[in-house]
Amino acid sequence: SSPSVNDLGSENLARSTKHGVHRGMSSVTIPPPACMLRPLEAPFRYLFGPGPSNVPPRVLAAGGRPIIGHMHSEMFGIMNDIKKGIQYAFQTSNNMTLAMSGSGHTAMECALFNIVEPGESVLVAINGIWGERVAEIAERMGAKVHTLVKTPGGHFTNAEIEQALAKHKPVLFFLTHGESSAGLVHPVDGVGDTCHKYNCLLLVDSVASLGAAPLLMDQQNIDILYTGSQKALNAPPGTAPISFSERACHKMFNRKTKPVSYLLDMTHLSNYWGNDGKPERTYHHTGPVSGFFALRESLAILAETGLENSWKHHTEVAEYFWKGLEDLGLKLFIKDKDLRLPSVTTIAIPEGYNWKELLAYIMKHHRIEFAGGLGPSVGMLLRIGLMGYNCNKANAAMALAALEDALKQCRMSKA
Ligand SMILES: *Cc1c(COP(=O)(O)O)cnc(C)c1O
Repeated sequence: SSPSVNDLGSENLARSTKHGVHRGMSSVTIPPPACMLRPLEAPFRYLFGPGPSNVPPRVLAAGGRPIIGHMHSEMFGIMNDIKKGIQYAFQTSNNMTLAMSGSGHTAMECALFNIVEPGESVLVAINGIWGERVAEIAERMGAKVHTLVKTPGGHFTNAEIEQALAKHKPVLFFLTHGESSAGLVHPVDGVGDTCHKYNCLLLVDSVASLGAAPLLMDQQNIDILYTGSQKALNAPPGTAPISFSERACHKMFNRKTKPVSYLLDMTHLSNYWGNDGKPERTYHHTGPVSGFFALRESLAILAETGLENSWKHHTEVAEYFWKGLEDLGLKLFIKDKDLRLPSVTTIAIPEGYNWKELLAYIMKHHRIEFAGGLGPSVGMLLRIGLMGYNCNKANAAMALAALEDALKQCRMSKA
């Protein structure tokens, strides 16, 4: 029904004389790839892994609105709304609040590149992949990296943190709030105060936990907090909210060297977001307009729902899910209920099963994505995320039914 597509088949194009395309006459030597002449295929899947998660139609629709200029006054209005939405989601009154053009990693790098100067000491709590990742980024930019290490699922006491702060005297301490590679939600109370006692800033990763587990940036004295758009916030991947305290701003705007990244330099980004008090905003980079539309809508949903309701809802669904898992004879990886991340549940790989087979079976027969471990937790556990739009008892029951079926079908033979 679409002759133009057929006529443009890659083999045809190079040879065809009918359309006046002679090999000898054309400067184009690479033909259009056949795949590009077929329509986009993106199947529906239940994204019950650690992210991205399914996006509600309302957010998809917002992302599909006509593009406006990234520096039109309406866009600045939308960015101001996003800023307010993030301040609410983070529970902060920090002026230096914005969304990065990029995924969670962009926010991670933005925090490190702007706060830390080469040669300065950084302390990183590693109890899963995210601490490992931050340590690597800090090392690449020339920081002196010290680590506090536990196996996945472990957490750090304030006394352990204080000891390391006293010993290494870092300018920045990194902690993951929702360790999605282990399924752990890390206690944050008191950590900020301890850091400040040692003249250290506290950086917290809430990519997997924001909206799902309680976190109060100002009350918990967090200096830099970031998240991602595609987990409990339920926006498409590609934007990442971040906020800096006054203390963090003082450090990053009084540095001796320029940050290694131009794109992530907060002197420019703070101007783009209208946070630097200057009357004029000048071009720095083109923000992801559609991504910002979608992010605004997802923050609006969180504001309408209410943060506390959102936390409560995630906990209730998670508890229902945990009970169902135990009824199936499965072992939850995090023993202490209070330390379990409500958005991403981890279970020990059941004995007599190959975890890759389980995941493949569930994807093939149930169209559901679960995930295995990541980084140091590979081979230790399975991860099941029920966050935001995906977080409800019907989905939890569907995930349980898929697991029950897979447990029946995938048992390895003893032979
Ligand atoms: C997913 C995740 C990230 C990384 O986010 P990207 O958007 O993939 O860059 C960082 N930290 C945690 C805790 C995560 O779960």
